[in-house]
Amino acid sequence: MAQTAQSIGANVFQFFTRNPRGGAAKPLDKADAAAFVSFAAANGLGPILAHAPYTLNAASGDARIRDFAESVFTDDLRRLAFTPGALYNFHPGSHTGLGAEKGIANICDLLLKVFQNVGGAPSTTVLLETMSGKGSEIGRNFEEVRAIIDRAEGAGAPPLGVCLDTCHVWDGGYDIVNDLDGVVAEFDRVVGLARLKAIHINDSMNPLAAHKDRHEKIGKGRIGLEAFRRIVNHPALRDLPFYLETPCDLQGYKEEIALLKGLVK
Ligand code: FE
Ligand code: FE
Ligand code: ZN
Repeated sequence: MAQTAQSIGANVFQFFTRNPRGGAAKPLDKADAAAFVSFAAANGLGPILAHAPYTLNAASGDARIRDFAESVFTDDLRRLAFTPGALYNFHPGSHTGLGAEKGIANICDLLLKVFQNVGGAPSTTVLLETMSGKGSEIGRNFEEVRAIIDRAEGAGAPPLGVCLDTCHVWDGGYDIVNDLDGVVAEFDRVVGLARLKAIHINDSMNPLAAHKDRHEKIGKGRIGLEAFRRIVNHPALRDLPFYLETPCDLQGYKEEIALLKGLVK
């Protein structure tokens, strides 16, 4: 993965730890993990971002679904211990009718179990992803992200970070096209910019506040290229790692990386 990323001009990459729509993972290859660590150091790669499977729903009211989430989350953190300094991003989850408050309580209970399973603070920083608010998704606004952080850390969890997804916040109603400064200030006020560890950089197929979550290629959607120019140059964002989740093939990603690098002042 690191060699592929480097071949298209990337200096960071995101990957799924396992089948994103299932849960099965390949056996861990410790020699390959060690080879990655030395390759990353030798080639100046930034932090890798591991994405939890979409089937992981820590907010669920169904005990079997929460047990699955606990075992996947725990196993992922144990695996990521072989690539120290990684980031681990997960969708907070969907409460499926329980209400956000109960969903948030479930997420926090699960985080505490996972950190206990792995024996305390891992070398991996766990990130909550900002969501678009489709269905009963939790993390639909900065306040819900803050509520998870407060409750989990208040109960003893190690510090959590946040991954801001540009498509999701736009679909969630934050106008990063016309008021990027205002949205960044709002994030800082509610969550704190020190929590922000990664950006998912995606255009959106849908208008502001659509609560849909359909990613588009950079510059081809409703966010548009000029907004991305401001995003990659924003003083609070420009030094963060950016991860593309656009509907591209490898050649398309190569072109998008070149496009985005061309926007940087
Ligand atoms: Fe995601
Ligand atoms: Fe994302
Ligand atoms: Zn998305």
